[in-house]
Amino acid sequence: MVVPKIVICPVCGRRTYARIQDGGYLNEYPVRIYCINCRTLIRGTYNMSAPGQKGFILYNAKSEECDVESTRLIVKNADYKIEISGELPCALVSEFDGSIPRTTTFLDATNQLDMKTHIDRLAVFSTNIDNWKRYRSIAFQLLDEGSLDYLPKALMNKMGDYSYVCDNYLKSLHCLQEIAREESSYLFCQKSEDSIINDLLSELSAVDEQELHRFVIDSGGVNAFVDRYRKVMSVFTSFMNIYPNVLPAETYLRYRNQDASLGIATCSFEDIKSFYQDSYEALLSLFYIPVCIDNILVRKNYTNFDNNITRYINDPRFRNPNGTDYEKYFGMDKGKKADLINNSDPIQGIIQLSANKQIRNGIGHNSFSYDGITQTITAYSNRNKAQTVQKSLIEVAMDCIGLTKSSIIMGEIILFILRQELRSEGIRSVIHPRFYGDVGLNDRCPCGSGIKFKKCCRAEIGSMRVISE
Ligand SMILES: [Zn+2]
Ligand SMILES: [Zn+2]
Repeated sequence: MVVPKIVICPVCGRRTYARIQDGGYLNEYPVRIYCINCRTLIRGTYNMSAPGQKGFILYNAKSEECDVESTRLIVKNADYKIEISGELPCALVSEFDGSIPRTTTFLDATNQLDMKTHIDRLAVFSTNIDNWKRYRSIAFQLLDEGSLDYLPKALMNKMGDYSYVCDNYLKSLHCLQEIAREESSYLFCQKSEDSIINDLLSELSAVDEQELHRFVIDSGGVNAFVDRYRKVMSVFTSFMNIYPNVLPAETYLRYRNQDASLGIATCSFEDIKSFYQDSYEALLSLFYIPVCIDNILVRKNYTNFDNNITRYINDPRFRNPNGTDYEKYFGMDKGKKADLINNSDPIQGIIQLSANKQIRNGIGHNSFSYDGITQTITAYSNRNKAQTVQKSLIEVAMDCIGLTKSSIIMGEIILFILRQELRSEGIRSVIHPRFYGDVGLNDRCPCGSGIKFKKCCRAEIGSMRVISE
């Protein structure tokens, strides 16, 4: 159902005719509307169900009903028109000729999507976001502030639906990861999150244990990896704050035919640019972890970098010419690390980090412009002010989704490292029981240890029980 409403610009008074998708599957969603005339950004939410409050709750503008001349279906009180949906991509704001439009991009969505899956996805999204706000986020806040003592209690000693007593911190981290995985599962669409994790653990199972250990010691030891896990999880938790803003982009990922003229009505660049910059920084500062593991897997030694990196750091013009290759790689700036990502190496290829350094530099140096009417972001060179890249808001929103996916995969890699390193100290954890499926006793354990299942996770998996709600 499409509901019409008029939004009045608080600055210039021009009116925008909003065609709102109502009766969708979300209770409430954020709304962003640009005034074409004066470029004021109108912010608020649209509420579908609150008794007595149904409709727009605009923070900085007022709305009114349409004044329709009924015989000719002409709207008399509007200058511009826009579509609003919390879950679908929308037509951008444009001039309005007065006559009520007959079709919407919302109708087109039924051709673009498998509607049953779409509806199921939104139901899970709504439940997950509610649970996130009500209690699930607490454990992440405790982790973020380094307060691990109460983590098991905050996690209710649960891994998904299974009871799992977190009697060591490694188990707590695995229960956290399971929440992050569950909350983020719909960010993955071409390939499911579980199958990517399976592929990852299967690759990791071939990592030479001694060489991995040398890498861990050289890069600060086990405790440093707990800090790194905290850092990748901060990308995920920040994403949860903007998830409702980018939900239409998540839907767009599933469109059969992507239409570059579509925008999103739940988001402005302002809402996502800090997330983009911060997560880019965090993930690239930790990117040596998958790079060094690829070095082990492909070139036997964690300091044997691929040809492109080796050539770059041994170029006489490189600014830190002394030290080992490993130290020189650390000395590279993040933009260069982004340029030298090698997706043909196994682990980097699974992470698929979607980091655009021009956009990041544009945000970081404040040398970008955003046009909220066309929803276009243009980044400029800090040096000569030349345009470096142009992207639509929905593309940047999809990149935010990509960065979050990468953070979840990086989290899995760090937990794998911790499992391998802590095993000798008797500190152990399993991954979620569903990953063990129909594994045979003598098969390699699905957790990636490289050990036979019967000697690795079997005993613990056998004792885990589903908690009935
Ligand atoms: Zn205005
Ligand atoms: Zn195992």
